[in-house]
Amino acid sequence: MSKVTDSVTHMIEQLSRLPGIGRKSAERLAYHILRVPDTEAFALADSIRAVRENVRYCEVCYNLAESERCNICSDSTREQTQICVVQQPRDLIALEQSGTYRGLYHVLLGRIAPLENIGPEKLTIDSLVDRIAAGGFKEVIMATNPTVEGDGTALYISNLLRDYDVQLTRLARGITTGSILEYTNKEILSDALAGRQPL
Ligand SMILES: [Zn+2]
Repeated sequence: MSKVTDSVTHMIEQLSRLPGIGRKSAERLAYHILRVPDTEAFALADSIRAVRENVRYCEVCYNLAESERCNICSDSTREQTQICVVQQPRDLIALEQSGTYRGLYHVLLGRIAPLENIGPEKLTIDSLVDRIAAGGFKEVIMATNPTVEGDGTALYISNLLRDYDVQLTRLARGITTGSILEYTNKEILSDALAGRQPL
């Protein structure tokens, strides 16, 4: 019996490390998992293993991918002359759900945050500049979060890209300053894309 208790305790500890999951929620989840059929519980365990084993960053745009290139980079019907710069893969998903944008992306994997010692070299900015330098793009849309750090990152990148023959734009400010892209509803995101402004 003590063995079972150890396993349950261990699981509660693991679950309570997840963001937004306190001790009480972790207990609730653990007892839920104990109650569901084997197939359901194993499907959860297998899905955790599968994302860790199969998912990587796209070698072109750093979106999540299950092969060298993500679904968007592999899709030749996407508009190849537009590139939208976002902080995280989940921002890309939010923009995709707005259904308006048909171009390509570049995921920075973060933002410049001097107070957290995150400088530009820790992001994928170099490879963004390489992509633009290689030519073929007409517009770069900065879709970093409308926060002090997101705006600072967009400004830093736009300065690096000034000498290239591309139009620099940013999302319209329908998005409330300080709000986070991934939580913005798709109608607002769609408007923000449609009303984008020169940067
Ligand atoms: Zn990609």
